[in-house]
Amino acid sequence: MEIQDIPYQVERVVPGMRYGDQRRAMVAEQVAARGLTNPEILRAMEIVPREQFVSTSLQEMAYLDQPLPIGHGQTISQPYIVAFMAEAAQLQPTDHVLEIGTGSGYGAAVLGQLCGAVDTVEIDPDLAARARGVLQAMGMRNVTSWVGDGAKGWSYAAPYDAIIVTAASDHVPAPLLEQLRVGGRLIIPIEENGVQRLVRISKTTGGFVREELIPVQFVSFRTTGVL
Ligand code: SAH
Repeated sequence: MEIQDIPYQVERVVPGMRYGDQRRAMVAEQVAARGLTNPEILRAMEIVPREQFVSTSLQEMAYLDQPLPIGHGQTISQPYIVAFMAEAAQLQPTDHVLEIGTGSGYGAAVLGQLCGAVDTVEIDPDLAARARGVLQAMGMRNVTSWVGDGAKGWSYAAPYDAIIVTAASDHVPAPLLEQLRVGGRLIIPIEENGVQRLVRISKTTGGFVREELIPVQFVSFRTTGVL
């Protein structure tokens, strides 16, 4: 099937629609319509039930085009941004991916649909425990959740084919570059002069290649206070 044949029409996410219908509308309207047409990513976004990763009181808002609060001052990312990061990471089905900033676990679940194995690291033990419970209940056996400071990466399972960071930093932590395999991609929001941009850093035999992608708005990387 040609990509342009995929029948993604623009539909509106309407509160009260069943979650499956809301999810299909979200994929069509917020992801495919904006030019992210990788069929694997669209399929993954259609499978993962975003409403399970937010509190009961926010479930009706789960498919709106925005981040949502998940407690502890943190947010679940906007669906389009989750898809954009997955696309930017140029993922293959056999890839072993490291995610920094588990948050709700939603991004990790999407990555788990796309890759062979995902390790995800969260600095806040309460958020990590909650995310782990949801991922286990969903049967995501290829996603492993850890508590730690993601600025150090997760050396135990390195090197990774891709590393995806979901909190903004003013610099690229060196351990993340070290833990990429040659050919690997790091996707990270970098904040400079109050503006955040998503950056892709590819590790090649000749060194690192840095590309600036799109402006973004993530919560800041936390370095102290939790662990
Ligand atoms: N991917 C998440 C988005 C989470 S928001 C989702 O889909 O829900 C960013 C997360 O990064 C927050 O949960 C925050 O606690 C976490 N975080 C911030 N600094 C961190 C650090 N140094 N190490 C690991 N996680 C961190």
